[in-house]
Amino acid sequence: MVRPGFWWHGPETKNSIYITFDDGPIPEVTPFVLAQLATHSAKATFFCLGKNVDQNPDLYRQIVAEGHTVGSHTYNHPNGRKVDVQAYHQEVEMGQAAQDRLIPRSDAPLLFRPPYGRLRSSQAKWLKSNGYQIVLWEVLSGDFDLNLSPADCAANTCKAIRPGSIIVFHDSLKAKDRLEVALPAVLAYAEQQGWTVAAL
Ligand SMILES: [Zn+2]
Repeated sequence: MVRPGFWWHGPETKNSIYITFDDGPIPEVTPFVLAQLATHSAKATFFCLGKNVDQNPDLYRQIVAEGHTVGSHTYNHPNGRKVDVQAYHQEVEMGQAAQDRLIPRSDAPLLFRPPYGRLRSSQAKWLKSNGYQIVLWEVLSGDFDLNLSPADCAANTCKAIRPGSIIVFHDSLKAKDRLEVALPAVLAYAEQQGWTVAAL
């Protein structure tokens, strides 16, 4: 289902793919991600949780300093369909504030990814009118799926990508085992295809 105003993929004409990382930053995983991206001269987009930004401010600053784009993923990761509108707005604002405290926001649109991709239309409307661009995805790596082998995660993700794809990974403990195999595989695959790995 395509809903206007949501980004499901980036510009296709550029021969770029757009890798995104949700739920970080955390010291156990994010440094690995940053090192991989640097090795391949790749840029990415990090949808950070406010609580992790507060706990790991230096990692957050490093993401920005290395030229990646940051977006918000709320403060505590609520499911939009399970909390009321007011509580959700508060979560969004707390998440964004955690980022703004460290690095003041620019004039660029505020990128926001709803946890679980779940939103009520009233929440989407509120986000839009408060300057947020909602970013969904085209390719789920499945790195959060404990039943998926790292090799299958890597193979499935490479198979699904095309120019313009927005791909979801997680810099989280749950995803770590699969991410550590699938991310290098996707970066190598993109290189082979001649695609640029770009930030949104
Ligand atoms: Zn998430």
